[in-house]
Amino acid sequence: MPEFQTFGDGHSSRAIPDPIPNSEVKPATPCALVSDKMRNTGAVFTNFIYFMPEKISKKEAKKQIEEFFLNIKGRTTREVQKIKKLAMSFNLPLKEKRKTFCKKCLIPYVNPKIRIKNKIKSTTCKNCGHVSRWRIK
Ligand SMILES: [Zn+2]
Repeated sequence: MPEFQTFGDGHSSRAIPDPIPNSEVKPATPCALVSDKMRNTGAVFTNFIYFMPEKISKKEAKKQIEEFFLNIKGRTTREVQKIKKLAMSFNLPLKEKRKTFCKKCLIPYVNPKIRIKNKIKSTTCKNCGHVSRWRIK
């Protein structure tokens, strides 16, 4: 015969039978075992992804860099740093492109102060005040 329990708020439900009657030892719930296992494998998996950067060819890297410098304005220090690292890892020279951002704070120039004196072009960064000097050929 099914037993019904009546609760304080009026609803009633069937009593859940004890799997091991009259015992203090409760069986291990399978969900706890699974979650423990998943936690370990998940941690290993994320670490694996974190330490493995995606592999790209030199051609792809060159294309990425070209695309990046097409709209350099409004980029952050982090993005410039990332693309600079990418270029360095593939031995790709930035050439004239490196004159589009500040050497010190790695922020793209937006209306910089440019002065030409004795065949030397000096560009002052508006963000940090660093002066880059380039010889004009
Ligand atoms: Zn700067």
